[in-house]
This record gives sequence, structure tokens and C-alpha cells, in this order.
Amino acid sequence: MATWQCVKQCGACCNLDPAERPDLDEYLSPPELELYLSMVGEGGWCVNFDHTTRECRIYSDRPRFCRVESEVFQDMYGVEPEEVNDFAIDCCRQQIEGVYGDRSLEIIRFNKAVGLSRGCKDANTPDNFFVFICGVAIYYNNLRI
Ligand code: SF4
Ligand code: SF4
Repeated sequence: MATWQCVKQCGACCNLDPAERPDLDEYLSPPELELYLSMVGEGGWCVNFDHTTRECRIYSDRPRFCRVESEVFQDMYGVEPEEVNDFAIDCCRQQIEGVYGDRSLEIIRFNKAVGLSRGCKDANTPDNFFVFICGVAIYYNNLRI
């Protein structure tokens, strides 16, 4: 079974472009929507997102809507606790594919981390190698995970 986890140096969900999230007012309260819109910076990226480290500068104080937590998902999206895992995986995949592409290293790393694909790393696999997706060779650096 796939188990959700956040993958380091991803940050896809920190692209807040409202054009890509047209239903914001359905799951954010008016004050949250105001906060959300105030955080949208250049290219739709959150002003709190550090592009160098690909990490949140205010992680411990990030807003409720940035948190993958059972109570938050139930409250915001009406997702039952037993469905949060699959829902979060779907959300991340959709966001990562939208921001980085469906053939990106980020989606490969995410799929591997949550257990959606076996991944290519085993005792006989080097840290740096190529994977082939739809005939396209992609350089893959396992050390980045
Ligand atoms: S899209 Fe998912 S994996 Fe990527 S930073 Fe956000 S929560 Fe983490
Ligand atoms: S506050 Fe942090 S976690 Fe939330 S979108 Fe901005 S950078 Fe990402």
C-alpha cells in the first residue's frame, strides 16, 4: 500500500497560483482566502518559499491550509480520516505534475517515496543512472532524495 509522505526539496504545493486553484473560496474561510492571496508572489510561488533550498521559511508557523493533517483535511475538504492518505497522495501527484511535469524527477521521487513505484534503487543500482519513460532518457540522481 502506498503511504503518503512529503518529499524534501519538492515544494510543488507552494506554488499557489490562484488560476490553478479556482475553488479556493469553497474550502478557505474569508480570512484564510485573504491570507492565501497575500502570499502569492512571482510566478504564483508563495512568498515564504525559499527557491534555493526548496523549503518553507515559516514552516513551524505555516497556515492551516498548508498542513497535511487529518483534522485539516476533514474540515477543509470533508475527507474522512481513513481517506486522508490516498487523498493526500492524489493531491501531491496532481500538484507535482502540474508544476514540474508528469515526467519530472520530482514525480519520480515522490512516487518512489510513497511506494507507488518500486523505484530503481537496490543494492546493485548506482546512485546516478538513467531511467527511461516513454522512450525519453532522464538522468536520475538518487542522492537528491
Ligand atoms: S507537493 Fe506534496 S511532496 Fe511536494 S512539497 Fe507539497 S506536500 Fe510535499
Ligand atoms: S507558507 Fe510555507 S508551506 Fe505554505 S505555501 Fe508558503 S512556503 Fe509553502
